[in-house]
Amino acid sequence: MLKEKQTLLRIIVTVLLVLSLSTSALAGQKNILIAIGDGMGIEQIGLLHMYNEQVLDTKANLTSIMKDAVIGIVNTGALDTPVTDSAAAATAIATGQKTNTNMVSMKPDGKSLTTIFETAKKKGYLTAIITTDTVVGGTPAPFAAKAKHRTEYDSIAEQYLNLGVDYIIGGGRMYFIPEDKEKKQAGRKDGKDLLKDAKEKGYTVVTKLEDFEKLEKADKLIALFSDKEINFANGDRDPTTQPSLSEMTEKFIGLVSKTGKPFIAMIEGARIDHANHKNDATASLEETRDFDDAVGIAYKFYQNNKDNTTLIVTSDHSNGGMVLTCYKEKDKTVCPKYDDLHNFKRVPFSFEKALKTLDSIHKGIKAGNPNMPDEEAYNKAVEQLLEEHLVGLKVTDEDIKALRTKKVPLAYQYDAQASVLGKAYFPILFTSWATTYHNATPVVSLSFGKGSERLKGFIDNTDIAKVLFSLVE
Ligand SMILES: [Zn+2]
Repeated sequence: MLKEKQTLLRIIVTVLLVLSLSTSALAGQKNILIAIGDGMGIEQIGLLHMYNEQVLDTKANLTSIMKDAVIGIVNTGALDTPVTDSAAAATAIATGQKTNTNMVSMKPDGKSLTTIFETAKKKGYLTAIITTDTVVGGTPAPFAAKAKHRTEYDSIAEQYLNLGVDYIIGGGRMYFIPEDKEKKQAGRKDGKDLLKDAKEKGYTVVTKLEDFEKLEKADKLIALFSDKEINFANGDRDPTTQPSLSEMTEKFIGLVSKTGKPFIAMIEGARIDHANHKNDATASLEETRDFDDAVGIAYKFYQNNKDNTTLIVTSDHSNGGMVLTCYKEKDKTVCPKYDDLHNFKRVPFSFEKALKTLDSIHKGIKAGNPNMPDEEAYNKAVEQLLEEHLVGLKVTDEDIKALRTKKVPLAYQYDAQASVLGKAYFPILFTSWATTYHNATPVVSLSFGKGSERLKGFIDNTDIAKVLFSLVE
């Protein structure tokens, strides 16, 4: 009996020892990078792979680094619904806790959650947010702020400075500066100038791309290149005033490396999600390509610093349900040829810009012909848009009506007009979309370095947080 007890005790002691060792063995990882392709499903990764091979004659980073990755399939569901949003998904990744959609690192009862950036700061890590969205958007926010609703942007911006997030790079300048109605400058209603405060706190503050490019050293940096998001990568973004995600990532890695300090960075390819909401396959592809370039830079850093770097590449949720598929025409099934992948280049700019252009053409026609019935003016505007910009696109009378009235089936109402363009491009791009909304399909995670073995197989998004905390604690 005594012998059995001793054996049992020995087993317990051994188990405890192994458990404590396995936790402490992860702690103190020097460099941690989390790259999130917002709204990026396997659909986007597959198209990226094909487009790179067939059109660009190159390999995508996301698919070529997979052979070295610990691959996970990630359940993304929120507390209140299996169809999450970015705020709830990023809360899961940044705190390890599920919450309701729209909530930022806070439980539905208002209880605030400890975020990975808070813990990392306490342990001496530099923290970084790099995104093509506003820096206070639904994905970055849960890493460093708490809010009942993700749209509390002004408060989220203030919380970043209070926590002392060291690198804040992306869009969303209007949440950091006071509103100026005379100069028509969008900004904070409370009149606070957070950029001025930041300078006093020792931040380097940059709002021009040329100044960002010239930066050689910055231990604390706020770099904001637009009032809201960075413009879409395909034809909208002016590369002389707004950087790509990969440019921001490259600069950040250069700057943070010079500090010699440990860091944790969240890098978000935000606008993949926005393009998917609009069923805009070319914008989605171009945004995924930019994200892929940023992943390539992060992966290179990992390779050069393998002993002390963990890189996790994932998505917060899938969106839109895009498929590359076939259609039937006069009893003949028409499927895309590999050459048809070149057609993505035929969309000159984003649907967002196309619809803005349509709007202004329509207004111009109305102004020049005040007595023209609205329907006729709208038809003419669509005609002009196709002739001058969306060359080769064919729309039906039904499409034009749907564009004008915004009456589309339920699943497409998130962005009704854009979804009409998405549908019209089907015979050219062969991309069909299930919805304009997020969906519950699991996403992929690719993990490298210490802790990654815990993210193998079918995992939950909260498992990513568990690894992140174990790396810094
Ligand atoms: Zn979204």
